[in-house]
Amino acid sequence: MKKWFWFFVLAATVAQAQTYTVQTVPDTKRVDNSYVSNPDNLITAETTSQLNQQLAALEQQTMAQVAVVLLTSIGTETDVDFAQSLFRLWGIGNSGNDNGLLILYVEDQRVIRFHTGYGLEGILPDVICKRIQTQLMVPRFREGNTDAGILAGVEEVIRIISNPEYAGEVAADKSSARSAMEWFVLIFMIGWAVILAIVFLANLSDGFSNSKHVSKRVPSASLSIGQWLLLVFLLPMALAYLLSTTGSWLLLAGGLYLYFDMLVLAKYNRIINRAHAWLSNGKLSVAQDFMKEHNVWDEWSLLFPLPFIFLGGRYRKLMAGLRTRPKQCKKCSRQMTLLRNAAEKDFLTEQQQLEKKIKSITYDVWQCTGCASTLIQKYPSEKKSYESCPKCGTVAYQSTSKILKPATFSETGKRRITSTCKYCAYTAEQESTIRKKEKRQPREPAISIKESIRLSSYDDRSDNSWYDNDNSSGGSWGGGDSGGGGASSRW
Ligand SMILES: [Zn+2]
Ligand SMILES: [Zn+2]
Repeated sequence: MKKWFWFFVLAATVAQAQTYTVQTVPDTKRVDNSYVSNPDNLITAETTSQLNQQLAALEQQTMAQVAVVLLTSIGTETDVDFAQSLFRLWGIGNSGNDNGLLILYVEDQRVIRFHTGYGLEGILPDVICKRIQTQLMVPRFREGNTDAGILAGVEEVIRIISNPEYAGEVAADKSSARSAMEWFVLIFMIGWAVILAIVFLANLSDGFSNSKHVSKRVPSASLSIGQWLLLVFLLPMALAYLLSTTGSWLLLAGGLYLYFDMLVLAKYNRIINRAHAWLSNGKLSVAQDFMKEHNVWDEWSLLFPLPFIFLGGRYRKLMAGLRTRPKQCKKCSRQMTLLRNAAEKDFLTEQQQLEKKIKSITYDVWQCTGCASTLIQKYPSEKKSYESCPKCGTVAYQSTSKILKPATFSETGKRRITSTCKYCAYTAEQESTIRKKEKRQPREPAISIKESIRLSSYDDRSDNSWYDNDNSSGGSWGGGDSGGGGASSRW
């Protein structure tokens, strides 16, 4: 009889030693607003109600939520995984500030676990949790006094969390901070999209061509539409979104700033490369104008002053040294050096030497340090005071005009134009009439002669294939239109 009795007791105990999953742990907070889930009665009802009173007071005072869960078994699952899953499932602590703590007691594993929410990690770091457990709880559990152990641990936790020093941190509503960041990212994305859409449509209306720049005689440093969308549109947005998930304003602001910094740096790097492309086509003045047009000290430098402190100096140096920047030999890839004037003579024809002397064409002679091959770089003067001689072709043909008879209001005048080649002495004379004077002041020509020459030299695109390529594919890097065309707003 006695034997049977003990068998039933044992069977009842085994039945009671239920294995819980996170889903089967009774969520007492939801059921009767209790902080303690004690389905196996591992602590007394008295202790449970005492804990409930203390924890309710704690939540009222500090907003912190502490759940106490006592289970006989969680099977083979580890306490850490179980606590994490349960914590997430129940959502212990305010969703805004994550100030939750789960105290999990598992009898068969003989384990007590404190699982802290993000908002309490600072106040209850792992070492403190460990100390509370080893000093106040575990010794009592060993004595079989579960109630006393739990009470002592919870009391200490309450004492720490309700410390007025931590009040700010416990109650700090991180949700508002996060939502402010979410707002920022949202506004950033919408604002960015609107600005870029406007720029995009504005560009679309000129068919993404460089027409604006052609009219200004300066090409843009263009990107293709694809590159533009990726670099200026999609990547910053993705970056803003990713960085916002870290929850750190510093990372968000710093990351975006750095990204745009890099973009601006890359833009000026492109401009410098473009200037060199002009230069290697012999268009020194275009290259110089181009660099001036895309002045590095534009609005971007105000937004991103830091790299410009370094970039500005480098840029100015590059501008000054556009012509003398070392070149690479096309044959052997070694460096080429610029020959000094005296050494140049051996490589220039007499005509070229004269052209250089009268400054109608500037020649730079480059010699390879490896294979000694030479490269003659030609920079025609912008002034165009000389033309190409019809006889010998030397750009040393100069015209002077002499007025034979000045024009009056009633009669036309006459002028004689004498042209002479300074190289072969070929001379030609030509007479032309001067129009009658008009009563009304003749209007200023729409473009000056000098400008028309410059225009023609810029419009000569046939030898600038990269320039044409731009027209077909070109979006813009913002083109850095500091001159008022607004390419800098094309980003
Ligand atoms: Zn070489
Ligand atoms: Zn001649």
